[in-house]
Amino acid sequence: MHASTALAERIDALLPQTQCTRCGFPACRPYADAIAAGEADINRCPPGGEAVLAALSDLLDRPAPELDSTRGVPGPLLVARIDEGACIGCTLCIRACPVDAIIGARKRLHGILPSLCSGCELCIPPCPVDCITMEPAGRSWEPADAKSARMRFRARAARIASRQEAAAIAADARQREAAIDAAVTAALARARARRAAIANS
Ligand code: SF4
Ligand code: SF4
Ligand code: SF4
Repeated sequence: MHASTALAERIDALLPQTQCTRCGFPACRPYADAIAAGEADINRCPPGGEAVLAALSDLLDRPAPELDSTRGVPGPLLVARIDEGACIGCTLCIRACPVDAIIGARKRLHGILPSLCSGCELCIPPCPVDCITMEPAGRSWEPADAKSARMRFRARAARIASRQEAAAIAADARQREAAIDAAVTAALARARARRAAIANS
């Protein structure tokens, strides 16, 4: 394994895996990669707070700067709750949830599994009827939660990649079918033109 990949994995192992994007990266692992590459400071993770900052400082053997408050401030774990009466079952929150904490199907009431919710708040902006609110979880986000969230995030990423691959294959097949149809249509037109030319000669 490349040294910087190994370091990124050790950094990622310390990150909370809420996948909230508050560090300015699309998920925890890209932030870990950027720290390992020396491209980002270690103070950008509000969910991790002082504890993660100290752990990163120890791992990398460098002084801990102040937490970067422009990224948000640490606070107690919150979990999302859906107002069941208002939900229209549009599925936009499911698509936004990075850790598969929302269940539901199109045009059906959606629900959040509080034990899986990382409090990332990424489901709130897409909801067209503003029926998602955050409330105190009444517990803290533990290393076991981070481990489970990392696995669910990776499984979701693999699922999306596989859907995208299937969609690309289907689009390619449609393109080839259209090309074949066009070739057949052109050949028939040429044949008709030849017949017409013979008939008129
Ligand atoms: S928990 Fe949020 S802020 Fe912290 S590293 Fe992960 S995505 Fe970034
Ligand atoms: S339910 Fe909402 S707040 Fe909870 S993890 Fe999913 S997107 Fe984040
Ligand atoms: S985005 Fe809002 S309305 Fe749509 S399914 Fe989720 S909670 Fe319901």
